[in-house]
Amino acid sequence: MSKKILVLPGDGIGPEITAEAVKVLEVCRDQFGLDISWDEGLVGGAGFDATGEPLPPETLDKAKAADAILLGAVGGPKWDKLPDISKRPERGLLGLRKELKLFGNLRPAILYPQLADASSLKPEVVSGLDIMIVRELTGGIYFGQPRGIRELENGEREGFNTYVYSESEIRRIGKVAFEMARKRNKKVCSVDKANVLEVTMLWKEVMEEVAKDYPDVELSHMYVDNAAMQLVRAPKQFDVIVTGNMFGDILSDEAAMLTGSIGMLPSASLDENAKGMYEPCHGSAPDIAGLGVANPLATILSVAMLLRYSFGEGEVATKIEQAVSKVLDQGLRTADILSADTRKVGTQEMGAAVVEALKAL
Ligand code: NAD
Repeated sequence: MSKKILVLPGDGIGPEITAEAVKVLEVCRDQFGLDISWDEGLVGGAGFDATGEPLPPETLDKAKAADAILLGAVGGPKWDKLPDISKRPERGLLGLRKELKLFGNLRPAILYPQLADASSLKPEVVSGLDIMIVRELTGGIYFGQPRGIRELENGEREGFNTYVYSESEIRRIGKVAFEMARKRNKKVCSVDKANVLEVTMLWKEVMEEVAKDYPDVELSHMYVDNAAMQLVRAPKQFDVIVTGNMFGDILSDEAAMLTGSIGMLPSASLDENAKGMYEPCHGSAPDIAGLGVANPLATILSVAMLLRYSFGEGEVATKIEQAVSKVLDQGLRTADILSADTRKVGTQEMGAAVVEALKAL
């Protein structure tokens, strides 16, 4: 049966970059014979403008019925001042993650050798970098109860949150990380703060239990402060990093920045059955929206992740990645990754070049 993708362009540069990704899907269907189809929906500010909701019920229904979702980006200054926080574009995203139970966030940090100069680190430290950060996305301190700001007896205010993880939450994200490592270089580094926080002592224990089912994968542990340091000192020592929601939030942005080109990085958020939402790591870039200069490669690479992780089409996924690499070899660059001796192209020209490279594979 045909696999269904819901395409959610969203706001800002979202529609421009997803349009190029859809052209890549067309090649996958027409030339590589994938039995896929897609439909579009509204989310974020676009959803709010059309229906008064950042996650219109129709979009949620389509998302539930789809086998995978491809999202552009949401948000922008137009909606930043909406007084009702529940109507802000970001709520559309959070709603999708929650309703679809997308607990496993995969954030690769890959530095194409052709772009080694884009990093703020020395090329020899980062060239060829390929890390996968597996972040727990629906638990931990961002969701723990109780939370709030209360007034103490002495009249002073106190803010509080709860950092909580159940064994089953840790186990399921652990499995995602170990399965991932099996397809890569067979190393998992679990990041915690087990010297201080009980919740991460349990995290560490459960990771060791999960590791027993994966004797072919090497497990190591690292405190989060050291992990932040090691990521800038010697990032290539890592293969898969698995960590909780808050540490993952911070470390994945740090790792993304090592590559120096956020316009290149895809991401995935998966449920227990490998259904997922795929999106570029960057936002809606309102400063360049509508100018036709946005880099579509992160979104195109998100299509590769979608095919690999939700549809089991690793070979076609690899072809898309090879096509991107070939286009970089040709010296084509959008403005965000431009360097000496390369040729500046816009969003559509970059998309067309990837399509041509893909067709030639
Ligand atoms: P951003 O990622 O949108 O932009 C940061 C900088 O990177 C900007 O200068 C932008 O022009 C540039 N940039 C981003 N993507 C690019 C691309 N593909 N090609 C070329 N340049 C690119 O982050 P921001 O400015 O902090 O946020 C803008 C809006 O996006 C906000 O409303 C924010 O809430 C939203 N946002 C959405 C998501 C999401 O949809 N997942 C993620 C982050 C931020």
